[in-house]
Amino acid sequence: MKALLVVDVQNDFCPGGALAVSDGDRVVPVINALIPKFKLVFASKDWHPSDSVHFKKWPPHCVGDTKGAEFHPQLSASKINQVFLKGTKNKDDGYSAFEATSDDLEKVLRQNNVDDLYVAGLATDYCVRASALDAVTKGFRTFVVTDAVAAVDLKPGDGEAALEEMQKAGVMLVSSHDIDR
Ligand SMILES: [Zn+2]
Repeated sequence: MKALLVVDVQNDFCPGGALAVSDGDRVVPVINALIPKFKLVFASKDWHPSDSVHFKKWPPHCVGDTKGAEFHPQLSASKINQVFLKGTKNKDDGYSAFEATSDDLEKVLRQNNVDDLYVAGLATDYCVRASALDAVTKGFRTFVVTDAVAAVDLKPGDGEAALEEMQKAGVMLVSSHDIDR
């Protein structure tokens, strides 16, 4: 069984948000077109308390129950089977969807006999990277959909370097056009 994991397509990571990926919203139509190709669609949300230690490293973003933490308004969120909240404690960064505290992503994937996990969303060089590396370490056949991710690129080239690192770890890079139903 294959599943799609949509990482952090939230207002604060899109243009106009508190920690915007410059062209973050470009992934939204690509992901919306991908969703019908999957029976199982999961998503993660960054969901921080306002006093998170994470905000020593980053501008405050995706505080739980705020507008910034909501999905991008154009994302086909009604088609998402389950949302996993991460970074929910004030002491963790929660980069990886596998660190979610609202439910155990690995357990849910195994219960659904998922062996192939396709990862899309934001941002290539942080939460997509951490989630894909965790997935491959846990033994899932892991794909990153390269046209459905976007990078922060704090340093130019960070996104490309992250893709290379993931590939070296065994993650496969795929274009959304090459994914069949
Ligand atoms: Zn965060």
